[in-house]
Amino acid sequence: MTVQRDTGNQCMSRIAVVGGGISGLAAAHRLTELDMPSDVVVFESGDRTGGVLATESVDGFRIESGPDSMLSQLPWGIDLCRRIGFTDRLVGTSDQYRQTWIVRSGRLLALPDGLAIMAPSRIWPTVRSPILSVLGKLRLACEPFVSRRSATTDESLADFACRRVGREAFERLVQPLVSGIYMADPRQLSIRAALPRFVEMESKHGSLIRAARRAARNRKSAPTGSSNSALPTSMFVAPRDGMGSLASALTERLPPESIRLRTNVKQLSRKPEGGWRLSGDCDSNGFDENFDAVIVAAPSSRAAHIVRETDASLADELSQIQQSGCVVVTLAFAREDVAHPLNGYGFVVPQVEQRDIIACTFSSVKYENRAPEGQVLLRVFLGGATRPELMELDDEAVLSTVLRELEDLLGIQGRPSVTRIVRWPNIMPQYHVGHLDRIERIEAAVATIPYLELAGNSYRGVGIPHCIRSGEQAAERIAQSITSA
Ligand SMILES: Cc1cc2nc3c(=O)[nH]c(=O)nc-3n(C[C@H](O)[C@H](O)[C@H](O)COP(=O)(O)OP(=O)(O)OC[C@H]3O[C@@H](n4cnc5c(N)ncnc54)[C@H](O)[C@@H]3O)c2cc1C
Repeated sequence: MTVQRDTGNQCMSRIAVVGGGISGLAAAHRLTELDMPSDVVVFESGDRTGGVLATESVDGFRIESGPDSMLSQLPWGIDLCRRIGFTDRLVGTSDQYRQTWIVRSGRLLALPDGLAIMAPSRIWPTVRSPILSVLGKLRLACEPFVSRRSATTDESLADFACRRVGREAFERLVQPLVSGIYMADPRQLSIRAALPRFVEMESKHGSLIRAARRAARNRKSAPTGSSNSALPTSMFVAPRDGMGSLASALTERLPPESIRLRTNVKQLSRKPEGGWRLSGDCDSNGFDENFDAVIVAAPSSRAAHIVRETDASLADELSQIQQSGCVVVTLAFAREDVAHPLNGYGFVVPQVEQRDIIACTFSSVKYENRAPEGQVLLRVFLGGATRPELMELDDEAVLSTVLRELEDLLGIQGRPSVTRIVRWPNIMPQYHVGHLDRIERIEAAVATIPYLELAGNSYRGVGIPHCIRSGEQAAERIAQSITSA
């Protein structure tokens, strides 16, 4: 490999990270943590780091345009927060109100207790709930008697759920609960890539209900242990100052000169003597720079363009991963303008209800500190893979659509005092059936290219903890190949 600089007795490697979202920041931060002399540069096409992590404070409201929390049960996000001294800035979801609702025939019905997407650990709350018809409940109750699938090939979420819990439970419970996460069409979404734990539950226990009940029993009998008292215990956590503050905290730990904003990387070329030449535009001027190693942490569709000259078939595979978009609408209302008690985190809307919104989060209930006293903050999602046409609506049409839905479902009167409409086109990778096979082919191709790594939400998980893991693992592989050269 080429070595750019010799600093006394140590060789300094230049490493480029393309994309300053959470994946790229985690990669760059991990490189600085590893004990190796390196000069890391993060190229970000936008005018700030964080990618979809974006928090705005306005009139006492804290508004999230992208994610509003991360799962605390996956270790990678919490571990990173611990290492950067960020855990005391994390808060849990409200303990007071934990309810989530599902819309049925225009009414908000409480999600049964103990139901994890399609695996009820307690059958009675689901049996008593009016969300499913009697026939739907009977079919769900038969789940333990449905035989295991013998084929080991991938399956769509819709096929898997209909086979195990029946069509009605799929349409009324599974589809709305999953759509909000993946913004995907469940007839195309791969169960193995998106929700592998359910495949594992089926293969290990022969039944999701049996597996969920056994897990609940184990949780009860497990010793409580010494939990880290500095950390909130809820399933989801968020920085008190919003998700953007996590991106800022990571950015601040990198040398200021290592962040290049408004710099769009277009192409990666392998130099004959080894190493990489990175080229693109910076503030509408061209740039061209040499690096020893590169981590591409931009979405797969952009990564495809960047690596095309290096490996056209890898680029073809990357470009096959489709993306869906969504619109996030945040509205602030006076508390008295909302008839619903708002005693929960929000609601999801099944596609069969044929409404124009996917979900609504009661942001100021879910987390403290999101709205001034006497005000509420609501966040509504539209679009996704099944309603792409809603991305085309102008702001006025988006607002009137959302207000009509909220008036009907929450009894909202009056106009919002704050409105934010953010469109995220092509933002969410779609893990279609066969996704994991494609990822294996992509990883095998990348493994043959020295000093190149890919990271980001396009590959093995869209959640923030997954993205952090993806960036950190890419950094570790690069560090390993440099130190062992
Ligand atoms: C609306 C929404 C809500 C979500 N809610 C949650 C949630 O609550 N919890 C959760 O865990 N996850 C959530 N997610 C998913 C999660 O936020 C994302 O998967 C994750 O943040 C993606 O991070 P990333 O760094 O891989 O990609 P991105 O955030 O997309 O960052 C990629 C960066 O690369 C830059 N870039 C692209 N091309 C180039 C180029 N050629 N040159 C230079 N820079 C380039 C982009 O400008 C961008 O900043 C949500 C996602 C969305 C869209």
